[in-house]
Amino acid sequence: MNFIKSKHNIFHKLHDSENYYIVNPLRGEADFLDPETAEEYKSDAFSDPEEWLEKGYILPEGGEKAEKDLYRDYYLKFLEERDQSEIQIFWVPTYGCNFACSYCYQDQYAPSPAGNTMEVQKAFFDYVKKEFAGRQKYITVFGGEPLLPGEGQKKLVIDLIERANEAGLSLAFVTNGYSLTEYIPILKKGSIREIQVTLDGIGETHDQRRPLKTGGGSYKTIVEGIDQAIKAGLTINLRAVLDRDNVNDLPKLAALARKRGWLETGLLKTQLGRNYELHSCQTDRNRLYDRVSMYKDIHDLIKDDSSILDFHKPAFSLSRFLAEQGKLPDPLFDSCPGCKTEWAFDYTGNIYSCTATVGKSGEELGTFFPVVTKKQEIIEEWEERDVSTIPECAGCSLQLACGGGCASVAKNKNGRVQSPDCRPVDKLMAMGLPLYLNEE
Ligand code: SF4
Ligand code: SF4
Repeated sequence: MNFIKSKHNIFHKLHDSENYYIVNPLRGEADFLDPETAEEYKSDAFSDPEEWLEKGYILPEGGEKAEKDLYRDYYLKFLEERDQSEIQIFWVPTYGCNFACSYCYQDQYAPSPAGNTMEVQKAFFDYVKKEFAGRQKYITVFGGEPLLPGEGQKKLVIDLIERANEAGLSLAFVTNGYSLTEYIPILKKGSIREIQVTLDGIGETHDQRRPLKTGGGSYKTIVEGIDQAIKAGLTINLRAVLDRDNVNDLPKLAALARKRGWLETGLLKTQLGRNYELHSCQTDRNRLYDRVSMYKDIHDLIKDDSSILDFHKPAFSLSRFLAEQGKLPDPLFDSCPGCKTEWAFDYTGNIYSCTATVGKSGEELGTFFPVVTKKQEIIEEWEERDVSTIPECAGCSLQLACGGGCASVAKNKNGRVQSPDCRPVDKLMAMGLPLYLNEE
């Protein structure tokens, strides 16, 4: 009997091992393979095809139809779930910032000067109420720096919180954390989901990357702000933006969180960002990582010091989910929420797809102030983008773990929204699966 391999098998040698893995996100199956079994797969010489067939790694002749049907069923389920899921709405009250971060991609933005931001803020809430009526949603306040010191900005944040409370919406803030302490009494009046603060390392490492515009470090003040916010019961989402210059501070950040008692409060979340070129060229490209090299270095750091995992457990594509849940997640048809479950709005009255495009000239998708306008055709391109509409993804075996990547990165690279931003999910799982699961 002839067999064909499933289109959705991800088969790869494990990192630092002679063994392999096979994952099929459509069938929800995953296995480690010893070298002999891997050879069977490579050479299509299956000693016990029944098991392979049962898991859907190979299909009997004519089995493609059943696979396509299963794909379609999951796709319909995905569309239905996405239509029900919560929308994250970004609001940018200013692009101004008191930091001069070495890797800021907004530093070359020249947005028009602020008019009456209070009036625009009101128009933003009116638009959200009307446009997203009946949908679960929350607002994430972004910048620039939304928590700038100064009375004018505080009034704006107070107004924002009052309007959000009136509308029954919860809020998240993305801040550099420098003025967090003085904002705590104001923030406590709102329903705050989390406050994202960036700490790029310890002391000097952080200070060199994220200094004040006026000169001088920000590390001590930020750590104090996190202490105070956690004491006040606010959830902190601690983000570190990594490149080759600061990756070795990851174990130190974990130690800091432990020492300050943040870990046991249940109020600390963490995320790792990758310093990469989003829109403009950076001066020192050598320090930038591609995804695989960054996660390889993080993998090695975890191997040396597994207590990092108490602070942050990287996903390594599907690896963490599989280890924690004992099963694979549903197939991932789309990894870009832009114009689907994410939108961004700024104080100039413009509408954008997401945080990657907000404020960037030429990326406007319409206006909500002074009048509502929409570039419907472009919006539809964003809305329709997933692995089933990106031509390059059609024949890609990684598609249901990759999801097509980031539309903004894809557009910058290929000039089209409907184009791929390939994620090395196979290589990430080659590291993550043996890190989190027993290979035997
Ligand atoms: S374009 Fe990129 S940054 Fe924007 S929502 Fe999509 S994945 Fe996120
Ligand atoms: S973006 Fe690239 S890796 Fe991802 S599914 Fe499409 S072709 Fe495959």
